Amino acid sequence: MKKLIYLSLVLALVACGNQQEKTTETTVEVQDFEKFKSDFIDAMWQMNPISASYQGVHDYDNQLPIPNEERKQLQLQFATDWLNKLRAFDYETLSEADKIDFHLIEDDLSNTEFYVNEFKGGEWNPSSYNLGGAFFQVINYQKHPLEKRLENVSEKLNHVEAYYAQAKQNINQPTKVHTKLAVQQLEGSKSMFNQTLLDSLAKSSKDSAFKQEFAAKIEKTIAAINDYKKYLQTTFLDKAEDSTTFRSFRIGEELYSKKFAAEIQSAYSAKEIFQAAVAEKEDLHQKMYRLSEMLWEKYFGEQEKPGRIFEQIQMVINEVAKTHVHRDSFVTSIRQQIPELVAFVNENDLITLDPNKPLVVRETPEYMRGFAGASISAPGPYDADAETYYNVTPLDHYNEEEAESYLREYNNYTLQILNIHEAIPGHYTQLVYSNQSPSLIKSIMGNGAMIEGWAVYTEKMMLEAGYGGDQIEMGLMYYKWNLRTVCNTILDYGIQVLDYSEEDAMQLLMKEAFQEKSEAEGKWRRARLSQVQLCSYFTGYYEIMQLRSELQEKMGADFDLKKFHEEFLSYGSAPVKYIRKLMLKKLVASDQKTA
Ligand code: ZN
Ligand code: ZN
Repeated sequence: MKKLIYLSLVLALVACGNQQEKTTETTVEVQDFEKFKSDFIDAMWQMNPISASYQGVHDYDNQLPIPNEERKQLQLQFATDWLNKLRAFDYETLSEADKIDFHLIEDDLSNTEFYVNEFKGGEWNPSSYNLGGAFFQVINYQKHPLEKRLENVSEKLNHVEAYYAQAKQNINQPTKVHTKLAVQQLEGSKSMFNQTLLDSLAKSSKDSAFKQEFAAKIEKTIAAINDYKKYLQTTFLDKAEDSTTFRSFRIGEELYSKKFAAEIQSAYSAKEIFQAAVAEKEDLHQKMYRLSEMLWEKYFGEQEKPGRIFEQIQMVINEVAKTHVHRDSFVTSIRQQIPELVAFVNENDLITLDPNKPLVVRETPEYMRGFAGASISAPGPYDADAETYYNVTPLDHYNEEEAESYLREYNNYTLQILNIHEAIPGHYTQLVYSNQSPSLIKSIMGNGAMIEGWAVYTEKMMLEAGYGGDQIEMGLMYYKWNLRTVCNTILDYGIQVLDYSEEDAMQLLMKEAFQEKSEAEGKWRRARLSQVQLCSYFTGYYEIMQLRSELQEKMGADFDLKKFHEEFLSYGSAPVKYIRKLMLKKLVASDQKTA
């Protein structure tokens, strides 16, 4: 197909004069853009060996860059150079898929300056200097023979002392919560060196000179980690605290807005999304209240209502949550539900599912456990032939009380919504579609808000299509689930920008989002350690809903839900604002054709 187009352009050039020069240029550029992308990705991995190992590129496993001033300058120069090369391409002549890649690269490079010169996480987040994971990626890469892996590790170890010496220099008024996290994680990361790596060394066929040298490096590494840890402890945590010891964990409105723009890549500002979430919360409360009215008699008979909206909703939720599967059939029940979801999607013509790619539900492998629950594990871009699994962790390790609490959270209704989100037609279906238009750029720089937004959108879309039948309970539990997404956004913005106290956070999560204390406390911690990421779910969902309404309005009777879904997903994991642009353009083009 590509060859034919090229050939016809060459023929056209032979045929006439001026105009074709431009056409030929276009062809050359299309090919150049492929080469540009692949050169850019190579250069990016070379620049970021640790990210490379995490993404499955193991050419630079032996390297460990020192986070010093020189490296900052290199990063800035890298961004400038590649932005210049990128902008030399004529955007308008690129294919739709390449246009999105263009945006993703441009956005990523443009953000470098913000992270290096403004956000400066390395100055105040001591937990960003944790090398356990980086070394795990190297020693765990099974495609390299053990001896090769150990050689890479050995070279990488050479730089650990300098790395931590630099880390100490970089830290300038850290936050307390990140400092505590660092101390805790550094202690844990030591086992990576003095157990995992030494065990691997013992199993290898390396000679005794190598082994001795290696063991000595491990000793130095442990000393460097201890020294860094002690520095954090004595310089900050043990010191009599005054207002200058720590900085606030709240990054404030300016940095937050910029980080939101950089990571979420939304058409809306952080503040607009926050306001939309607040409005959505009020709306959800009204809907939940109505459903709790309808369910009251079924669960409470003649009992008098408490007279307070939140209390009434909570009481009904508590009763409905008692309907759950037995702990031993948790995995089985999820496995049984997948074909039911497939059937529903097909019967209602919601989106085409590839029958050749059935989802494999398995018990989460031991080494991946730690967080309970369910997750999709998909092969990375460099390991595309590997299987995709739906991992479900059995409740073996829970005592009676923990299991009961977990099962109430994932009661019969919520469990189905979870399966929609994770599997069909949520994350798994999106993944199958995005693999149909493979782009390394999109796999590496894919937009988290679009990915999460799609999964959240499908929950609502399935219920709109009638999933759950006339069970009022399903609606109530869906709203509670959706409320979590909405409140994550409110909480994140509230804590980082609006000075929410712990009490404010607990009020929001426990009273207004009906969460258990343990869940709310975990969220309070997470929302102080990270910024912006908690907004991705609601923002993506909100923008997809907006886009759908916009198209419905424009197309009227021509709007087709199935086509909308398939076209939306055909662009890959790109920010919704760019998909919107291309979908609207296509609509205008087809209008002109029919006109
Ligand atoms: Zn129970
Ligand atoms: Zn998700």
